[in-house]
Amino acid sequence: MTAAPEVSTEGVSKNTTRPPKREAIPEYEPELKGKAERYTVFAFVFVPLIALLAAVPFFWGWGLTLTDVVIAAVFYVIGGLGITVGFHRHFTHGSFKANRPLRIALAIAGSIAIEGSVIKWVADHRRHHKYSDAEGDPHSPWRFGDDWRSVAKGLYYAHMAWMYLDEKKTSPRRFAPDLLKDKDVVLIDRLFGPIVLFSLFAPAVIGGLVTMSWWGALTAFFWGSLVRVALLHHVTWSINSICHTLGEENFEVRDRSRNVWWLAIPSFGESWHNLHHADPTCARHGVLKGQIDISARVIWLFEKFGWATKVRWPNNERLAAKRVKV
Ligand SMILES: [Zn+2]
Ligand SMILES: [Zn+2]
Repeated sequence: MTAAPEVSTEGVSKNTTRPPKREAIPEYEPELKGKAERYTVFAFVFVPLIALLAAVPFFWGWGLTLTDVVIAAVFYVIGGLGITVGFHRHFTHGSFKANRPLRIALAIAGSIAIEGSVIKWVADHRRHHKYSDAEGDPHSPWRFGDDWRSVAKGLYYAHMAWMYLDEKKTSPRRFAPDLLKDKDVVLIDRLFGPIVLFSLFAPAVIGGLVTMSWWGALTAFFWGSLVRVALLHHVTWSINSICHTLGEENFEVRDRSRNVWWLAIPSFGESWHNLHHADPTCARHGVLKGQIDISARVIWLFEKFGWATKVRWPNNERLAAKRVKV
């Protein structure tokens, strides 16, 4: 005796023949962030911010030496380009291939910005693009609603509070498996703590040696470490807050990313954020006339030196298709 086949021929059971789906890795780590971790992040957010606020009165009292300015500028540029060219355009979006020394240098330079280790940064940022301004985005200014109170709260959350208020951790196994396979990147990710210490104390050592004084070490620490870290933090975080709220929509996107011209220089071109969401793997974000993009120029230099290859430069046809019709 044979049993009647269970699958009917009426079309409703078509899907039963599909192979079972491979179990997806969850988007969040099974454990939550511990209190110690959240308090540490809180301290790293607020101590430099307090220094930045104190910088103005201190400036009148002490003055600011050329040595301090140069040290702060050099560390700002290294950390800033490490984030924009390295963590963001190379590691997160693969806008270009980098040879091994450049890849290692970019991972270390980005860590100097003290914005989290490379794998964590990339995992969070890929989640941002996956859900941009919808549920699941780690830092959308629109998460609480559209009225002005909700947007004010959302701006604060997107700018910095998400880092110490959100207890959930983005899973690197889900969002950055490519980086977990790279031994160099994993090693630099593990060395994040020592790199942070270097970033904090190298300016003091350099300032002390240049001026041969403890006072020179102290002012270099104040300007070259605390104020410099605070400035770069708030410029980077403005991309998550301001560039998802204000500015121009030159390209069609499904989120609320915008181009903000006045942040273009300090953010090394990252504030052309509307184009970036319209075409995330593009190596140049400032694609329209007059949109200065220092990071793109640096990638261009790396390409000329032969260190960067397969650079995804803007494609005019693709951009024209995405342009907002006026
Ligand atoms: Zn991005
Ligand atoms: Zn964004």
